[in-house]
Amino acid sequence: MIGVTILGSTGSIGVSTLDVIRSNEGAYRVIALSANTDVDGLYQQCLEFQPKFAVMANADSATELQTKLRSYGSNTQVDSGNDGLECIASLSEVDCVMAAIVGAAGLQPTLAAARAGKRILLANKEALVMSGHIFMDTIKHHQVELLPIDSEHNAIFQCMPQDNGTGQYADFESSGIEKILLTASGGPFRKMDMAALRSVTPDQACAHPNWDMGRKISVDSATMMNKGLEVIEACWLFDTHPDLIEVVVHPQSIVHSMVEYRDGSILAQLGSPDMRTPIAYGLAWPQRIESGVKRLDLVSMGSLDFEAPDLERFPCLALAYRAAAAADTTSAIMNAANEVAVDAFLRNELSFLGIAKVIAQVMDELPAHAASDLDAILADDHAAREFTKDIIVTCKGLVS
Ligand code: NDP
Repeated sequence: MIGVTILGSTGSIGVSTLDVIRSNEGAYRVIALSANTDVDGLYQQCLEFQPKFAVMANADSATELQTKLRSYGSNTQVDSGNDGLECIASLSEVDCVMAAIVGAAGLQPTLAAARAGKRILLANKEALVMSGHIFMDTIKHHQVELLPIDSEHNAIFQCMPQDNGTGQYADFESSGIEKILLTASGGPFRKMDMAALRSVTPDQACAHPNWDMGRKISVDSATMMNKGLEVIEACWLFDTHPDLIEVVVHPQSIVHSMVEYRDGSILAQLGSPDMRTPIAYGLAWPQRIESGVKRLDLVSMGSLDFEAPDLERFPCLALAYRAAAAADTTSAIMNAANEVAVDAFLRNELSFLGIAKVIAQVMDELPAHAASDLDAILADDHAAREFTKDIIVTCKGLVS
């Protein structure tokens, strides 16, 4: 049985991962689960999957979980904090780590999994956006199998020649790859009147037309920052340049992305918009297992549409292309500003259109540095968070 740790098991990706594991009884053993504050969610998962370890990032929540599990008579050992997360990412009985914590909080545990040489199923794109160079160096140094879980990157991976089952990615030049076509749904506001965008609510932004996801990534999809983060993610994963990544809006989210070759061929991966497909692919690669996903009925789909993204409507996408082209901490700064701005929007402290304005101001005014080591990246991440909070507090007129 393959031993699995799920970092962020109570989230949308975590729950889908457990569902795929449930569909493949006897193939995977859940060694460890983690959450931040969702005690009830993690408690229920512990009762069903009986992991050896459960970690809550929040210490008070960990104490509460421990009390509940003890009174039930569970043997699951509870731990807390970043040390606990890093520990369950590197346990000897773990073969595979699903990195599904949202945001920068996922970086250190995911790096711990890489240093321990575990197969990593990477959903936590922010980790790669923040520290791409260091992350990919660690992956290469420890010969880690890195399987992309983001549906677009998973699709691209599936459309590329694979190098002798080593888990390393194909080289563009020698494989005849000309460019990546990264599809985007365009989110819930693709056609909304621009004036109406001023007053959209968090619930409207989180109501994605095709995907059921956590709130942060749902807002990122509505601003198209999610696609921007994915451009940066693709640059690092596939060792390429942003000029070779074209974003194509495809409202049905059926074609999950494409790879264009020198001879004019375009290979695409299609499927229902359900994250259990890329998760199953990552868990079983290079084999295929049951995912529980509803089969795609192309005839009933009728037509598939494609269009260019509107960069005026979605300025976050342009900001991310700018960050992708910079070789310093600009991506980490942008990511941190985005996390703080989205959080403020979700708490009704910032307007939807204010998100992009705040991020742009932070990127314009905060100096970036060489992304030489993790300390430099974390320092700029911290500075960007503080600066973004200040802007939101002091410049309400500018951003609302
Ligand atoms: P959710 O918000 O649904 O879940 C996030 C998970 O991370 C939860 O388990 C949460 O615990 C935990 N968590 C939150 N904050 C912390 C913290 N500070 N320390 C430790 N754990 C924390 O997110 P998603 O599942 O939607 O997304 C997870 C990642 O996967 C993101 O990076 C996202 O971009 C990426 N992704 C998601 C997709 C999707 O379809 N959802 C698709 C592609 C990528 P708790 O429940 O206690 O808050």
